[in-house]
Amino acid sequence: MVKSKLITCFPPKCHIFNLGNNKIEISIRMTIKEIKSQIEKYRSVKKKIFVTSSFQTQSIPMLHILSSFASDIDVLFIHTGFHFPETISFRDEIVELLGLNLVEVLPLVAKIQQKDVNGQFYFVSDPDHCCYLNKTQPLEPYLKQYDVWISGVRADQSAIRKNMKTQQPGLFETTRFHPMLDWNSKQIYEYRQLHHLPEHPLDKKGYQSIGCVPCTRKFDLSDERSARWFGMNKTECGLHTDLIK
Ligand code: SF4
Repeated sequence: MVKSKLITCFPPKCHIFNLGNNKIEISIRMTIKEIKSQIEKYRSVKKKIFVTSSFQTQSIPMLHILSSFASDIDVLFIHTGFHFPETISFRDEIVELLGLNLVEVLPLVAKIQQKDVNGQFYFVSDPDHCCYLNKTQPLEPYLKQYDVWISGVRADQSAIRKNMKTQQPGLFETTRFHPMLDWNSKQIYEYRQLHHLPEHPLDKKGYQSIGCVPCTRKFDLSDERSARWFGMNKTECGLHTDLIK
């Protein structure tokens, strides 16, 4: 578990409250007000808050919103060791742009011990176990340490996420807060355009949902999570499966 505060700058170099009067912008502005109010409520009772981000293009509006009034919140990046180099450089660009307090979460089990009896990495033979070792298990100490976990899941991303709630109980007595749940991909796009926020470099190359290299494919389906774990009966990495009833 390594905590590294990279680059911080405050206030953020771009601001969110310069919205105009069209319908989409008003709708976003109301949501931002609600997010801010909820975080103030958590803080008023001294809840410890963290946010996780995979630093995809779609993650950026939430990080931008949070950075405008709560840039001190720890932003956890679960570094599996299998990411595209473009994701790491995009992450660092966003951290600098928004002045985020980045915390790198690293696997507890060395990669050499992450191979099956045939000498293959578990992502080939047992991706659930691979996700457990590289994502779920490394996050557990943080879940015990904090009270509120914010993540940017959206209902329009998959059938599973459609059933999630804006707030719901999580593991180790945490509260899970999903402020972007009701946003759709159009709003995410509009917000990014409005604030001139950059996109992940692989978006232009046809990737729709970007995770670890071995489990990400270029694919174009209405369910954007289908570009992950292609050909496998798996659509979630384990971070959110405790919410699936
Ligand atoms: S997404 Fe793939 S490579 Fe990444 S942790 Fe899960 S199974 Fe392993």
